[in-house]
Amino acid sequence: MSEKTPAATPYSAQAETHQVLNQPASLLPFNTWHSDGTLQYWSQRFGVTNSADLASYGGLCGGTLAEAGFLANKYKPEFHSHDRFGNRIDEVCFHPAYHQLMQTAITYGLPAAPWLKPCAGAQVARAALVYQHMQADAGSGCPLTMTYASVPVLQQAPPGAADWLGKVLTPGYDPANKPYFAKAGLTIGMAMTEKQGGSDVRANTTRAYPLTADEYELVGHKWFCSAPMCDGFLTLAQTDPGLSCFLLPRWRPDGSKNQFYIQRLKDKLGNCSNASSEVEFRGAFAWRIGDEGRGVRTIIDMVALTRFDCMLGSAGLMRAALAQALHHTAGRCAFGKPLQQQVLMQNVLADLTLDSEAALALSLRAR
Ligand SMILES: Cc1cc2nc3c(=O)[nH]c(=O)nc-3n(C[C@H](O)[C@H](O)[C@H](O)COP(=O)(O)OP(=O)(O)OC[C@H]3O[C@@H](n4cnc5c(N)ncnc54)[C@H](O)[C@@H]3O)c2cc1C
Repeated sequence: MSEKTPAATPYSAQAETHQVLNQPASLLPFNTWHSDGTLQYWSQRFGVTNSADLASYGGLCGGTLAEAGFLANKYKPEFHSHDRFGNRIDEVCFHPAYHQLMQTAITYGLPAAPWLKPCAGAQVARAALVYQHMQADAGSGCPLTMTYASVPVLQQAPPGAADWLGKVLTPGYDPANKPYFAKAGLTIGMAMTEKQGGSDVRANTTRAYPLTADEYELVGHKWFCSAPMCDGFLTLAQTDPGLSCFLLPRWRPDGSKNQFYIQRLKDKLGNCSNASSEVEFRGAFAWRIGDEGRGVRTIIDMVALTRFDCMLGSAGLMRAALAQALHHTAGRCAFGKPLQQQVLMQNVLADLTLDSEAALALSLRAR
């Protein structure tokens, strides 16, 4: 009797074409606070005594908020100029994950906590929150930062806009497209940049026409206005004595839509969850804040704080990349060893770690 060769399993009976080998598991879930000894060290060193909220936020930033960040960047904000009946609405619609990010950060006091309780270490604790949030999603970090940074300017608001500050400091998020006076919590944006000037805002051509002592109508354009669903915007426009600072609400005090028109959203390479837009003011109502001709002096208090957060944001992104690199190289082998044990890879990881830790230390020290 001749021996029979076993019949090969037909392809159609095989479940998969191959086994998945030598791929690390997902880094998520992890805790951006517990896994970051450097963050804990510098936070404590610069005055943070209670880290319970930071640790709990770290669990979210390495878990549900990180997942929300992926979704909010994948499903980009959409601009709707009109409703289906043809009415102008200037509305940007976001994926629910974006609102989850905003809601959670505001509940944790990311824009308001150090203003409400200005004790030693309060600004550093907030910075540590921002640093962790940026690892989950940088886009929502933009309106959160601008809202936080607007506080020193809103403290100088004229009587007509006096109730804005309290609502900016309220830890409640209301994304509805409705007037500021019908909301408990408000968010604030910043519209300075124009096409012809960029960072040289003295070249701005937007013009402000006085209605009363501190109420004006603004006419002009802004080449960059991120998070245009904010409830109000600190902006710059020319008056006779020169560039002046204004608070421009999305809705006028009489409850009608302000003449604030979104032209389009920017088509950006990154920072996708953040709707950055180009806008026009066509006689838009605004309150002046600070003296006429002192616009840069007035708004610079906000701008400076947003630039501090740019440092934190960059440091947070570096940390996010480093955490992925450390995790990936521990979970993947090449040439017989985990990548993390290969000498040249150790050089790369050491360089990344040094840069990342230095960026964090500098940013927290600057707070
Ligand atoms: C994602 C994103 C969101 C933004 N959101 C907003 C927003 O919400 N509101 C808003 O008002 N703006 C916003 N901006 C605009 C941003 O603030 C401007 O891009 C910035 O002010 C620089 O202006 P610019 O791009 O026209 O560059 P320019 O001013 O033309 O500068 C070009 C280059 O020259 C450098 N430079 C400028 N002046 C000097 C100098 N004196 N010495 C040496 N170098 C110099 C700059 O650093 C830059 O590298 C946003 C930009 C981005 C990318």
